[in-house]
Amino acid sequence: MQAQIQLGRVFGIRIGLHYSWIIIAILIVLSLSEQFSSVHRDWSPGVVWGTAILTALLFFVCIVLHELGHSLVAQSHGIRVPSIVLFALGGVSQMERESPDAKTEFWMALAGPLVSFVLGFLCLGSAYAMGWGGPSWWGGPSHPGSPVMEMLVWLGYINFMLGLFNLVPAYPLDGGRVFRAAAWWGTHSIERATRIAAVVGQAFAFLFILAGVWRFFHGQGFAGLWIAFIGWFLLDAARSSRVQVEIMHALSGIKVGDVMERNCTVVDATTNLQTLVDEHLLRSGQRCFMVQKDGHLAGLLTPTDISRVERRMWPLTAVEQTMRPVAQLRVVSPEAPVTQALETMARENINQLPVVANGNLEGILSRAHLLEIIRARSQFKG
Ligand SMILES: [Zn+2]
Repeated sequence: MQAQIQLGRVFGIRIGLHYSWIIIAILIVLSLSEQFSSVHRDWSPGVVWGTAILTALLFFVCIVLHELGHSLVAQSHGIRVPSIVLFALGGVSQMERESPDAKTEFWMALAGPLVSFVLGFLCLGSAYAMGWGGPSWWGGPSHPGSPVMEMLVWLGYINFMLGLFNLVPAYPLDGGRVFRAAAWWGTHSIERATRIAAVVGQAFAFLFILAGVWRFFHGQGFAGLWIAFIGWFLLDAARSSRVQVEIMHALSGIKVGDVMERNCTVVDATTNLQTLVDEHLLRSGQRCFMVQKDGHLAGLLTPTDISRVERRMWPLTAVEQTMRPVAQLRVVSPEAPVTQALETMARENINQLPVVANGNLEGILSRAHLLEIIRARSQFKG
C-alpha cells in the first residue's frame, strides 16, 4: 500500500493517505449529513455539513491514533515504523520487520484496539459529562442534541465498533494477530502459528462474505455489500500471508550467495540504449545489466529504467544517464539470509539487489530468479 498524499510526521512516522481513502471520507460525510439533517430539522445546512465534516475528520484522527498504538509499541521494541497509511478499509502501520517474539506481537496487536476503546470511553464520557443522558436503552434521549454532543456520541460508538471489529480473530486483523501470537507462544513456531491463523482467518472471511451476501438480499443493500467486500479483502490477505510463510519456509537456511546470479551482463557506461536493447536485451532476455565505468561498477540498469526513456532518444542516451547509480542502490552481502533480502526487496519495492562483498560486485539477486528457485525446490525437494 503506497501512500499518494503525505500529511506529515508524528513521532518520526510519516502519515499518508491512499486515494481510496477519499471515497470513504466522502461517503461518511454524506451519510452523516443525511443523518444529522433528518434528525435535527432545526440545524442550518452550515451546521449540518460543518458537524459532518468535522466528525469525519476526527474519525480519521482516531484511526491514526489506533495505528500509533500499534506503532509506538513496535518502536519501543526496536521495530522501526517508517509510515502509517490510511486507505478505504482503515489504517496500516508499515513495520520494517516482523516482531521478534510472541509476546511483542501480542502487545503490538492489542495496543490498537485498546487505544480505540480508550477513545470510545473518552468520547462517550465527555458527552455524558456535557449532559447527554446516555444511550436510549439506558433511558437517555434517542438523539444527543447539540452538534458537539452528537459528534462525541458518534465518535464514541464508532471507536468501540472499531476496537471490537479489529478484535475478530481473522488474520491479518488485530484479533488474528493476537490469536497468532498465542499460537506462536503455544507451538514455538511462527510458521505453524501463521498457517493456523491464516486458516482461521479464511474461515472468518467466508463468514463475513456469507453474512454480507445474506444481508444484501435481506434489504440492507450497501451495508451488506460492504461486509462482503471486507470478507473478500480478508480472504485475500489471509491467502497471501499463507503464501508468504510458504515462501519463507522454502527459502529458510539459504544464503544470498547460494542463489544469486553470477553471469550478469556487463555493459560499458558509454553504450547507448539502442545498442543495449538490440544487442543484449532482445537477444538474451536478461532483466538486469551491470554498468561498468573505468573498471568499476557504476550502477544497474533494468528494462523498467529503459522504458522510462522515449524510444526515439535511445540512440542518443548513454546507459550511465539512465542507470541507477551504485550509491543509490541497496546492496546485500552474500552471507545474508535470502529471506532477509526478500523482505528488503518487498519493503523498498525493488526487484533486484546487487550482491556486494568487500566493495566488489559478486552477483545479482532478483525476485524472478528466486521464484524459479522456489518452484524448483517445491517440485524436487521432498
Ligand atoms: Zn489495528
